[in-house]
Parts: sequence; C-alpha cells; structure tokens
Amino acid sequence: MKLKEYCGVCGIYNKEEAANYVYLGLHALQHRGQESAGIVSSEDGIFYEQKGFGLVHDVLGDEKIIASLKGKIAVGHNRYSTYGDDSTSNIQPITAQYGLGKIAIAHNGNLINAYKIKKKLVEEGAIFNSSSDTEIIIHLIAKSRFSNFMDRLVDALKIIKGAFSLIIMRENELYAIRDPWGFRPLSMGKLNNGAIVFASESCAFDLIGAKFIRDIKPGEIVVVNKDGISSYNPFEQIDEHRCVFEYIYFARPDSYLWDKDVYGVRKRTGEILASESPVDADIVVPVPDSGVPAALGYSNTTHIPLDFGLIRNHYVGRTFIEPSQSIRNLGVKLKFNPEKGVLKDKRVVVIDDSLVRGTTSRRIVKMLRNAGAKEVHIRIASPPVVSPCFYGIDTPTKKELIASSHTQEEIRKYSTADSLAYLSLEGLKKVVGDKGYCFSCFTGDYPIAFEK
Ligand code: AMP
Repeated sequence: MKLKEYCGVCGIYNKEEAANYVYLGLHALQHRGQESAGIVSSEDGIFYEQKGFGLVHDVLGDEKIIASLKGKIAVGHNRYSTYGDDSTSNIQPITAQYGLGKIAIAHNGNLINAYKIKKKLVEEGAIFNSSSDTEIIIHLIAKSRFSNFMDRLVDALKIIKGAFSLIIMRENELYAIRDPWGFRPLSMGKLNNGAIVFASESCAFDLIGAKFIRDIKPGEIVVVNKDGISSYNPFEQIDEHRCVFEYIYFARPDSYLWDKDVYGVRKRTGEILASESPVDADIVVPVPDSGVPAALGYSNTTHIPLDFGLIRNHYVGRTFIEPSQSIRNLGVKLKFNPEKGVLKDKRVVVIDDSLVRGTTSRRIVKMLRNAGAKEVHIRIASPPVVSPCFYGIDTPTKKELIASSHTQEEIRKYSTADSLAYLSLEGLKKVVGDKGYCFSCFTGDYPIAFEK
C-alpha cells in the first residue's frame, strides 16, 4: 500500500464546463503532484472520467478530452507518490458504483490505520482494485448499514484515522471534508455565478477567478447540492494539527493558507533565521524557488544584498521525483546551475527552506565553490527534519533523514560548508504560532501513531 502520497484536489459544483475549471484548478495545484492527474464529471446520473500518468496538461490538456467530461459538477486530483506499484488503478479520483449509486473520491493525505482496515475488509471478502488507501473509504461507505449517504459517510469517516482532505462527488452533489486533526489544507471559494469551488490551495481560486471564502474546518463536512451549502461537524473536537511543512515547503507561496499568506510566512522565517544565526558575508543566495522568500527575509534583516547565484531549470520536476539516490544526485545538477558572475570571490550565505537528506546542500556547496565562491554558509529556514511524516508529506525513512542520526556539525562537514545553521523550532513557532500545528517531522512527537 502506498504510504506516502501528496496530492492536490479540486472540485466544482454548478458551473457550465465544470471540468474545464477543475482542469485549470489542477494546473495551479501542479506543484502538489506530478505523477498523475484525473478528472471525473457528472451529468444526468452518468460519470465521465479521464485519468492518466503525467502532468495535468499532458493528461488532460486537449479540447476533446475536456469536452468529453460533461456536466456541471466535476472533481479532479493530481498526485505524486514515491513508491513503485504505480498501476493506473491508483490514479484518482477513484470511482465506484455501490448500493446508493455512483461515487468519485479525491483524497489528499494518508490514513494511518489503512493497513489494519484493509486487512479486515479483505478477510471479510472485499476486493480491491488499487493499492491506494483511498479505496478503503469507498468500501467503508458501501458496506455501512445506514440507509442514507450522510450517515454512511460519517460512519466510514469515524473508522479511518489520519490525514484526509477529501472531495467526494455523487451524481448531484459535492462534499468537501477535512479530518478532525486538520492535517492537510482544503478551502472553499466561489465563482461570480455563485458556483462553489473546493481546492487544496487558494492559488487554484486565483487562476479561475474564484473568490476565497474560507478554509474547511478540521472535522467538517461541507455539502453543496440543489438545497445550497450545508456544514456538518460529526466528530468529537480534538486539537488541530495543521501541517507546518505546508508553510515551509509544500504549498505555493501565493496561496493564502490558514489565515496567513505562505509567502509572508516564508519571508518571516528568513528574518528570524537571520536574527538567530547571522553571518559575515557578501551576498545572500536563495536555493530557487523554495528558498527565495526566506532569503529575502534574511537579506532584509542582515542588510546583506540578495543575489541570484543559482539559476533553476524549471523544466525538471521536484528533486524527490527520481527514485534512487544516484539519480537524485544527478537531479540536483539538472535542476540548478551557478551564476559565476555573481559568485566569484564572494562570501555566500545560501538559504534553503529545508534540509532533508542533505544531498541538495552538499551538491550546492560544491557547485558554488566551483563557480568561485570564497566561503559558503548554509542557512536553513526550518528546524532539522528528524522524523518521517505519516500524514501525507513525502519525507524519506528515518534512516535517510540526515538530522535523525547526525549532529549539526556532522551535517556541516557532510555538506562541506563553512558553517551551517537551522531555524530553531522556537523561531518557527514565533512565525506561525505555537499551537494548532503538527511539528512531528521536527520533533518526532506524533499526534496519532501509525498502525501496522
Ligand atoms: P535534501 O537533498 O534531501 O536535503 O532535500 C532538500 C531539498 O528538497 C530542499 O531544497 C527542499 O526545498 C526540497 N524538499 C523538502 N521537502 C521535500 C519534499 N517533501 N519533496 C520534495 N522536495 C522536498
């Protein structure tokens, strides 16, 4: 079963050419998943679907394909997963026909008790098409003994645990759901004609001209249908655990997330980092693109000028896409190129948003020195990643996380930098607040344990 998936979801209710809007929304969410994409739409009780491996444009960017997705309701998904086992049946939205009709489901997050539930369902005779934990939700809804859909849905959602931001489509209605911990984002927006849009991040609303209304609350189910919008809160209230890594790396900087703009948060991490770990240097160089706002914050606070000593090739995907370490090493070279004119004879502070395995930093230090930098100082705008994520961010196993087994000085040595410093956890909390977030990748304290 897939343990680590991160994804983008988007859905729309009551808009002509709904699939076209969802397609555009998925474009804005492309950074959340580049492995596969799919849209399912609904008209007159019929579901139309198009899914495939590749970028949103490659899979869906054809007028005929979009035109074939009929109806005024649609749900879409893009996915990035790291584990082998990539059969087409794992591509979302997953659809099924069951006792109450048709259902399509798009999921961002990871269930921590999926193994357990699946094992039980299989023992009871269930047949699974995919290895994705999302299919479990459909099974649970289908086998619930309640007669109406909402009761069945709540029944199913109370069995699953972990991270789930879901958009579910039925023939004539759309549901947006966030788990009670509130791990992953999901927001609601509105188009001029009143059509309701749900998306992982508000940047999807900007692209299609929708207005951000609000985030779906942790544990909330929002339903939109011919009767309008209704909201249900069937779960016991628990402490919110929004994923802080969304702010650090994952979300797009132009998204407005959990009452803060992501860009502003990143810039502020750079400012705090500068006050915690200043260094005598000539230029601040961001690792593009994820390190740019933090580098700007670092530069503003230290008054060391910002300069672009690393140029990014935008046409290669995110570093982690390549599966093996050897290819990943190559990946960093493919992705960045140093700008010699900027770097020659300079003392450089290089800023990245996070340091995970340590591969990127090591490569970059070498690259900067080869390009003429006199000194290279690494500053990381988040605390050391010491523990893997079980809630939907792709972090590698604990063994691969360099900070789980190495001191800061050992990491510096490995990176070959002249100095290295991270933002402290306290510093990060100064930026986002100390309550309401999941910091488990930085602390190893998990709000819910993974169940084997
Ligand atoms: P590493 O080489 O493993 O230390 O990776 C650090 C780089 O990967 C940084 O430049 C981050 O921007 C980026 N990064 C951090 N987390 C992730 C993630 N979950 N998926 C892909 N890239 C990431």
